[in-house]
Amino acid sequence: MIRVGLGFDSHRLVPGRKLLLGGVDVPSPFGEKAHSDGDVLLHALCDAIYGACGRGDIGEHFPDSDPRWKDKPSSHFLLEAGRLAKREGWRLVNVDATILLETPKLSPWKKAIAESIRGILAPLWDLEASAVSIKAKTMERCDAVGRSEAIVAHVAVLLESGGS
Ligand code: MG
Repeated sequence: MIRVGLGFDSHRLVPGRKLLLGGVDVPSPFGEKAHSDGDVLLHALCDAIYGACGRGDIGEHFPDSDPRWKDKPSSHFLLEAGRLAKREGWRLVNVDATILLETPKLSPWKKAIAESIRGILAPLWDLEASAVSIKAKTMERCDAVGRSEAIVAHVAVLLESGGS
């Protein structure tokens, strides 16, 4: 059996915060405003995994009203989402992500971001390089993303039954 999952997340961008994407600290004059570390890509990836498992969303598993998750590295959330999927007998086949951000340009960082995600998930699944795809687009200076007020991530995952 196979299952598809879709994840979406967005955060406001503010000065003085890190711009974390897939666990990579991308140099930028502004970063994601959030209760946790604000890693929009990892949050969307968690939701994609939870969605494929039919297990709700990241907000149900890690409510932002809970002080335990304040400034928590989002790699923790991803590993927990992955552990749940694996416990329920799923293997992650691939991840395909699109990040919407006006600036800075992410082209130099896409490979490092993909490597970082593979590394976070390595205790669960050995994903080959082509199984984690990171794409980046601007909004052509339209809407909140285009004005550099926000960042958005969309992620699709495929899970296959068969445990590891
Ligand atoms: Mg988020």
